[in-house]
Amino acid sequence: MEIGVIALQGSFAEHAAALADAGASARLVRSPHDLLGIAAIVIPGGESTTLSMLMSSSGIFEPLAKEIAAGLPAMGTCAGMIMLAAGVRDGRQDQRSFGAMDITVRRNASGRQVDSFEADIEVPCLGDPPLHGVFIRAPAVESAGPEVEVLARLAVADTLSGTGDTGSLDGLGSPVLCRQGSVIASTFHPELTADRRLHRLFVAMAAASV
Ligand code: GLN
Repeated sequence: MEIGVIALQGSFAEHAAALADAGASARLVRSPHDLLGIAAIVIPGGESTTLSMLMSSSGIFEPLAKEIAAGLPAMGTCAGMIMLAAGVRDGRQDQRSFGAMDITVRRNASGRQVDSFEADIEVPCLGDPPLHGVFIRAPAVESAGPEVEVLARLAVADTLSGTGDTGSLDGLGSPVLCRQGSVIASTFHPELTADRRLHRLFVAMAAASV
């Protein structure tokens, strides 16, 4: 089973290594041809405006949009989450996204500061210990539709102690890991730590959908 990793910009090498650790082989995707036969797709962290532009100019956007709409499992981290979201706030006007997950995200908004921070994230479906979340100019999930399962939230203290209006939906911490069917997305970067539980979960989701 090969899992494609969009390799136009951003943390694609780290995702490819994480997938290999999790027992899948990664195929770097740089052209529409590279999409043929993959069992799932990973959209890395990086810069969503650039990813959007490069996916369009490389011809990847349209065929990938069709595949994802038809059920190709997808994982997006940070900029990759933005690419999968239905709604993007504070984006560039010409920025595109796949609308694969019914969330609205605000770019560069999450957490204690606009730039970067790290926080331990309790993820009940992964058990103990918490995941170590690395957040780099992360988006905030500002709304999530009924089909979206919030798998993890930032602790309220981490959400509220900084920039103020950073997206606590309902008095709970801001969502940082969400799943909708075969699409999973995080505001943080699991590919930048050595914990492979999230990549293993995604590989299992991909295997289940083959
Ligand atoms: N701020 C970036 C964006 O809007 C995302 C940052 C990241 O992926 N680390 O695309």
